[in-house]
Parts: sequence; structure tokens; C-alpha cells
Amino acid sequence: MDLIVAKNRTDLVKARGEGSVALVPTMGALHEGHRSLIREARVRADHVVVSIFVNPLQFSPNEDFSRYPRTFDADLEACRAEGVDVVFAPSADDMYPAGRQVSVQSGEMGTIVEGAVRPGHFDGVLTVVLKLFNLVQPDVAVFGQKDAQQLAMIRRMVADLDLPIDIVGAPTVREPDGLALSSRNRYLSADERQVALTLSRALRAGAAEAVALPEGAAESVPARIRAAALAVLEGAAPRLALDYLVLVDPATFAEVSESYRGEAVLAVAAKVGTTRLIDNAVLSLDPA
Ligand code: AMP
Repeated sequence: MDLIVAKNRTDLVKARGEGSVALVPTMGALHEGHRSLIREARVRADHVVVSIFVNPLQFSPNEDFSRYPRTFDADLEACRAEGVDVVFAPSADDMYPAGRQVSVQSGEMGTIVEGAVRPGHFDGVLTVVLKLFNLVQPDVAVFGQKDAQQLAMIRRMVADLDLPIDIVGAPTVREPDGLALSSRNRYLSADERQVALTLSRALRAGAAEAVALPEGAAESVPARIRAAALAVLEGAAPRLALDYLVLVDPATFAEVSESYRGEAVLAVAAKVGTTRLIDNAVLSLDPA
């Protein structure tokens, strides 16, 4: 079947068919990371819907909403090549008609780590994602581990609001040199790209410390992980301006204690020039 492009909610309703549906929400400027989510979606349901919507609600006034890359024709080509059934690409007016009052509040979890640097961001993300869920009515929705706190917040929303949708997290796709793919990478000059590589290098240095220490060791494993990653990041200052480097519980994004065991996320955010980048690594903190 040929790709259906639904540019408003009426078209979307018309495109609805029989069988299960997997949704991949995106802001467009699709790259191999998005395409890996689409491939994951295809094995999870009969039909795949990709939404392309640069959501004004999740950008603050000082952020890059107006210059965010928009590559609609290339995005449609990528969706066609990946066998997507429906692209839902509404306008901002269609998503947010005048008179809107009610929205989703992300709670305290939306005010920590990424939410502390971007106040209101997760309220905007959850509001648009809930609207997309209601409009598309998927059985499954696929999100990238690249935006680890976003994934955790969506899982929280689905649990707290009893949404009947299976949330699937998909691994981060990287360039061969380690740089996590991002629509914002195209803002980077060749020089800045070299600096940006420090993020994934720092995460690898942290991950290398995620091994149990002998009994009575002076420093805890979380402290060593943070110190190792920070040492790499400091090497790139002042060209890399760090927003945060934290080791957190993947479900709550609360910082882990010294006695924490199990999976933890080492999350980093920094500005390189005017481009803000985030990345993370999932580590296993096992008992000694
Ligand atoms: P965005 O278009 O940046 O809002 O991202 C749309 C979806 O793609 C989100 O679920 C992201 O987490 C995911 N995504 C972005 N970059 C990557 C990547 N490098 N690898 C895997 N998924 C990604």
C-alpha cells in the first residue's frame, strides 16, 4: 500500500484501518535513529503511523523552535522506504485550536535533571504525546532511549493515567565514532562536532568504572563513574558548556545512592556553541 499522508485530524480518521497500530512520534528531520524506531514499530503491529510535528509547547521562548530543521519531503521518502503506512503531519493550529485550556502536568519528575534546565518542557511533551495517543489510538508506541527522561516520563504518564498502550524503548543509534544521532547535529560545524564527541566519550569512560569495588574501597562506584566521566568533559571546556552529568534511576530519574544496585542511567547534557546536545548510557551497577 502506498503511504498515506494525513495533514489534519480528519484525514487521520479516514486513514484508520483494521488491525493493530504502532505509533512513532517524531519532530521530523528523520535520521537513522528514527528509522530504527520505525523498524521496531513494524515488527510490533500490523500498521505503522509516524507523526511529524514540531511541538511548540515543548520549546521555551529562548530555544530553537523557529530554526528547528524541517525536511518534510525527505522525511516522506524515508517513511516510504521503511514501509510506513501513515504519516500524520498536522499543523500547529490543528493540534492546538484556539481556546485550549487543559494540559498534562508532568509533576515533580518533570522538574528535575532535563526538566530543571528546560522548565515546562515535559509538560509540553506529555501534552502532545497524550493528544497523539488519543488521535492515533495506537496499541504500541515506540520511543528512543536517546531521550531517556522523556521515555521514563511517558511510561509514568501511561501508568498514572491508565493508558492502554504498550510503550517500547529502542536503543540509541550512533555514528561509527560514537556521536548519538540527533536532528540537531546538523547545526554543528566540523570543529564543534569534534567537541560534541566528548559526550559519548565521557559516557564510555563512566561506563568503564561501573564495576564492583572491593569491600572497604574509599570511593563509591557512583562517585567513581561520575568522576571518570567528568574528567573527560572537563578536557573539552570551555568549548563544551556542561548543563548536567548525573547518574540516575532509569524509572524515576532520581540520583542513585551509593548503595544503589541494578540499572542506572548516566545522563549528560551540554551546549557546544549554540547547539544543545543530550546523551546517556545505561549502566549495570551490580552487587560486589
Ligand atoms: P525527535 O524527532 O528528536 O523528537 O525524536 C523522535 C524519537 O526518536 C524520540 O523517541 C527519540 O528518542 C528518538 N530518537 C532520537 N534520536 C535517536 C537516536 N539517535 N537513536 C534512537 N532513537 C532516537
